[in-house]
Amino acid sequence: MTDESSDQFDAIIIGAGMAGLYQLYRLRELGMSVRVFEAGSDVGGTWYWNRYPGARFDSESYSYGYSFSKELLEDWEWKEHFSGQPENLKYVNYVADKFDLRREIQFDNQVKACHFNEASKSWTVTLEDGSRATCRYLITAIGVLSVPVMPVIDGIKNFEGESFHTGEWPHEPVDFRDTRVAVIGTGATGVQAITEIAKTVGHLTVFQRTPNYCAPLHNGLITPEEQSEIKANYDEIFSKCKTSHGAFIHNPVRGKAVDQTPDEREEFYEKLYTERGFGIWMGNYRDIMIDEAANETISQFIKKKIRARVEDPAVAEKLIPHDHGFGTRRLPLESGYFEVYNQNNVKLVDVRETPIERVTAKGVQTSNQEYEFDYIIYATGFDAVLGAFNRIDFRGVGGVTLKDKWAAGPRTFLGIQVEGFPNMFTLVGPHNAATFCNIPRCIEQNVEWVSDLFRHMQAKGHTSVAATKAAVDEWTEHVHETSERMLFTKVDSWFMGINQNLKGRDTRKFLLYAAGVPKYNEMCDEVAANGYKGFTFGT
Ligand SMILES: Cc1cc2nc3c(=O)[nH]c(=O)nc-3n(C[C@H](O)[C@H](O)[C@H](O)COP(=O)(O)OP(=O)(O)OC[C@H]3O[C@@H](n4cnc5c(N)ncnc54)[C@H](O)[C@@H]3O)c2cc1C
Repeated sequence: MTDESSDQFDAIIIGAGMAGLYQLYRLRELGMSVRVFEAGSDVGGTWYWNRYPGARFDSESYSYGYSFSKELLEDWEWKEHFSGQPENLKYVNYVADKFDLRREIQFDNQVKACHFNEASKSWTVTLEDGSRATCRYLITAIGVLSVPVMPVIDGIKNFEGESFHTGEWPHEPVDFRDTRVAVIGTGATGVQAITEIAKTVGHLTVFQRTPNYCAPLHNGLITPEEQSEIKANYDEIFSKCKTSHGAFIHNPVRGKAVDQTPDEREEFYEKLYTERGFGIWMGNYRDIMIDEAANETISQFIKKKIRARVEDPAVAEKLIPHDHGFGTRRLPLESGYFEVYNQNNVKLVDVRETPIERVTAKGVQTSNQEYEFDYIIYATGFDAVLGAFNRIDFRGVGGVTLKDKWAAGPRTFLGIQVEGFPNMFTLVGPHNAATFCNIPRCIEQNVEWVSDLFRHMQAKGHTSVAATKAAVDEWTEHVHETSERMLFTKVDSWFMGINQNLKGRDTRKFLLYAAGVPKYNEMCDEVAANGYKGFTFGT
């Protein structure tokens, strides 16, 4: 039954990042009444929260921005090939202002529960302050990397200096000059933050558990000539993204690594190493992500580069991964990361050799010494993909919780709907191509697909839509079948739902979609063309 005491909307969107904002824009066009609830105090999502030094795109800026408005593409000028967080946040704000999106957004409102009412086929959404709202359609735009995770270390609260998680960075810049700083974590965020902090810090100590292969970003300012070229070629840029596996401007080359001579391979890898962005990951030989022998060739190439860039051979060896192959975990892109370890005011501590025992009032105690700091920075990442879902008490038909439904791993149809959760849509959800791509490209596809579904329902007079069990079973099988060959399914990482800092997250459960964006889009289009086969409709 609809809750009489609550506000009622056609649709509620949770989250005002890139996904939530675009969905709001499209639902307005459909004439729906919409409310967006956002935990943060403003728009931006990732770019609102992650203000740490060095935070920037790994996507080419011009391939990341929204493509839906020609006017927006004409108005906005990216300054750098890989734009930094302050500019990215300005961009999202610019979009929100241009399309007057804020008036339907309620900020500082964390959604705690979403319960489905079977009689009225509507959702009741409960906020942190206990207030409620109801809607026919519930759309989650809660992000894949939006729930920061702290490490499990005793004594974190005892530290008397200042400490921050990179995903909840203060809004004022932090000055590290003449201070002693610890960074814990060397994933994509740690690599960006360490490189930037090392430029001004008094002394920096990096605590590393898992070294990562990293490759140069090769950022640079966009020249006026490049700007004109970008603007003239937006159609081409976006159509290139549409045909690429990960919706980037990079696409694998035709040949296989194992079919080349060592010299040919070396020459090609050298070329990729000097080029911008994810080319070395996404624009490499096709077999490096599926064939261990092929993967070994690029892994060795990157190891050689690390050895050449780090002066102390013992430090270089610590920075080289020995338990996984190149690209099987999220590849950090860097701008002088390895050279940081040549500075005499930077120390690398390998916590596999000397584990952290606890955080003390003064700093960090490892198994062999206490280090004293003014700042401790936790670059320990996120509860990826599932975290934002797990924070909300979702209950579908029969009061079944989403947590129970996904206890053995996510089960969805198209990564967009869950059986038993009618009228609920998971933008950039698990098993959706958007989790493993140049995300805004996939956000636009997700949003447009859901909006078309609503248009279809409006035309037919339907007010409820539910994925069938058969469709969910088939999709889940497709997701697993198409990922089996991928080498990253053999490695512990957030792609596989592993997080050593979270209880019960030590069993591999594939969270992404690996068959590629073109395949995903094709399958979504096919479902729509067949009258939304796999869904049942009602009134
Ligand atoms: C440092 C960093 C760099 C990145 N770089 C790239 C890149 O180069 N290319 C790329 O494609 N992707 C990148 N990403 C991924 C990035 O998350 C996406 O590009 C994109 O911003 C996702 O948009 P979104 O709207 O789906 O989610 P988010 O931007 O994560 O927004 C989700 C919003 O939902 C809100 N929310 C969540 N739960 C609730 C709740 N219960 N109640 C109310 N509000 C809630 C959050 O506060 C947040 O504002 C990066 C991520 C990080 C962390």
